[in-house]
Parts: sequence; C-alpha cells; structure tokens
Amino acid sequence: MVILKTEREIEQMKKAGTIAANAVHLAGKAIEPGISTLELDTIIRNYIESKGAKPSSLGYGGFPNSACISVNNEVIHGIPSKSKKIKSGDIVSIDVAAFYEGFHGDTAFTFTCGEVSKNAKSLLDATYESLLEGIKKATCGNRIGDISSTIQTYVEARGYSVVRDFVGHGIGAQLHEDPSVPNYGVPSKGVRLLNGMTIAIEPMINEGTAEVEVLPDGWTAVTKDGKLSAHFEHTVAVTSAGPMILTLPDQV
Ligand code: MG
Repeated sequence: MVILKTEREIEQMKKAGTIAANAVHLAGKAIEPGISTLELDTIIRNYIESKGAKPSSLGYGGFPNSACISVNNEVIHGIPSKSKKIKSGDIVSIDVAAFYEGFHGDTAFTFTCGEVSKNAKSLLDATYESLLEGIKKATCGNRIGDISSTIQTYVEARGYSVVRDFVGHGIGAQLHEDPSVPNYGVPSKGVRLLNGMTIAIEPMINEGTAEVEVLPDGWTAVTKDGKLSAHFEHTVAVTSAGPMILTLPDQV
C-alpha cells in the first residue's frame, strides 16, 4: 500500500534527508588513500547521532553498520571494515539513511579517490545523470515506469547495464515502503504517481553485465564479471509543484 504524505510530513522527511545527505558528503570529503571504510562509517554515525538522528541501517535486518560502503566492483550493501582500505583510483559508493522525528531519508553518492580511469568517470557521470533524468519524471500523473524507463534508456544508450536484483522503493515512516521503483521498465506502466508520494530513486549501474552475486557475508552484492558498478540515490517527493529532492546536503 502506498502511503501518501502531507506537506508537513514531507518537510519532516526533508530534515531526515538533509542529515543523511550531509553525512554522505562529510564522509566523501574524508576519502583519501589509506582510509578504511570503517573509519568512513564512524564519521557518518557520529554526524548522524550528533544531530539527534539514528542511522537507519544500523541493525536493519542485522546489518552491523551505519552506512553501506561499496568499492569498485561492489554494487551495494558493502559492510564497512577496518581492513578495507581505500586506494587511489577507487570508486566508493556511500549509501546512508537517517531516521529523524519519525521519518527516514535515504541517499547515496559514488565518490572517487584520487585520479580514476576515464571509464570509471564516464560510468559515474552516466549513473548520476540518469538519476537526475529519472527524477524529472517524478511528477503527478506519470507512472513509475516513466522513471524506470528513462533511467534504463539513458544508461543503456551509453553501453551500461541496469542491475535487476535491487530496486528503489517508497520511503517514509518505514525505510522501505511501496511502491518498488525499478531502474528498468516500460513508459506509462506501473503505479501512478500522486501528490504526496515519497520514493527513493537509486540507479545501480554496471560497466559490464547486469548480473550480480551476493558474497558469503550475506550482504555485499558484487558484479558477476568483476567490472565496476556505480550507485546514486535521492529521496524524492512527488508534489503538485513538481519533483522535490529531499536529500540535498546543506552543510558540506
Ligand atoms: Mg534506498
């Protein structure tokens, strides 16, 4: 069941979303060769808690940390670790959700460490642009398929593939609500977008095959061919005034 939010609830969600976005970009600024993904996680947890919010992922389904940090061929749900050090040339996806005064905000950004390959840069640019193009379709009267197909068309035209095993989602008082928001689909199909819907749009885009597998840790999803994967995410409200991004940083 899709839960529509009032204008006031959307304002509340924006507070949670801003905290999550600041945390992501604070950690992004700290990326340098030799830093561990656990150190980045600690920056995120400390920031979120300093704002009186809670990291949504901590303990969610047994997840042990405050952020999912996925490097290079890791698609999503990377578990922060002391032994996982970032190297120059890596791409680092940081996915954070914060829970504040009853609502969640969920956002992800893929950063670079030092100089990355031209291929990596192109993948990141295409994935980020596809997110922005998808968000433009989050308007009243459109359907989920309009967002999905826009993202798919954008990245496939550039030779990339869309992960099928994980999708975006509705969000609000629960981290994951209806509807699902796939990054592939057919225009004019799927759930109709209504004023007050809040959704997390999150393209996960691979350089090579769309296929992924989950590592024995039960969380980390990696590309089956070992090639790179990028991930960007915004929480977006569908409003009569157009799409409103709720996860823009205001401090970093
Ligand atoms: Mg999400």
